Amino acid sequence: MAEVNCRYCKKKFDRDKEPFIQIPVGTKGTVFRYAHADCYAKEVNEGRVKEIYKVWNPKTASTCFWCHKALDTTDSNVIPLPDLPDRWTHKGCAQVHPMNDLEILMLYILKLFKSKDNFIPPGLMRQLNQYEQDYEFTYTGMLKALKYWYEVKKHPIDTNRGIGIIPLIYKEAKEYYYALYLAQLQNDKIEDFTAYIPKDIEVKIQPPKKKAEKRNLFSFLDEDNINGE
Ligand SMILES: [Zn+2]
Ligand SMILES: [Zn+2]
Repeated sequence: MAEVNCRYCKKKFDRDKEPFIQIPVGTKGTVFRYAHADCYAKEVNEGRVKEIYKVWNPKTASTCFWCHKALDTTDSNVIPLPDLPDRWTHKGCAQVHPMNDLEILMLYILKLFKSKDNFIPPGLMRQLNQYEQDYEFTYTGMLKALKYWYEVKKHPIDTNRGIGIIPLIYKEAKEYYYALYLAQLQNDKIEDFTAYIPKDIEVKIQPPKKKAEKRNLFSFLDEDNINGE
């Protein structure tokens, strides 16, 4: 729900539901007024408005994961984030933000728990840091442990436990992937070893139970924590 007043017909409308345009006001171009796309078209057709504004369709409008600016998911310079469905980024933003192991792990966790926000809560971040420093787990190892538990072993998503499962299964997951690797080496005598990397195993994640979906596990927002900017 994002109610705004149409600049032209003066009526209130919800820009999450109806196509609209953004009219920048002031000198910085960061403040906007809004109007119905239809009203705008009428104003242009009847010669009252000369400016060209982009028409936003609420069905395809989203924001960039990295720069947080509005984008249209159908634009050719917009791509989805690989590990996070329904999250989008400008191609250019994706290039200046090559993802490191920690970010890939965080994206996977967000996807796993179907978080509506883009950000990991501080408590969970502390947990990750603790695992990395005290247990000497790697971020890639933790990612694989979660993939092992939820995708290979197909355990239901437990939002209460969160990532607390990692220390309990880390060793087991490591052994699983190592055994898999050795088996593959023996069986296939594959020439190109690089073609065989455990992370390529793709198994669908089971959807969490309805109740879990409603929980807003990551209710706090702290952009700096995740973006490191
Ligand atoms: Zn209007
Ligand atoms: Zn961007």
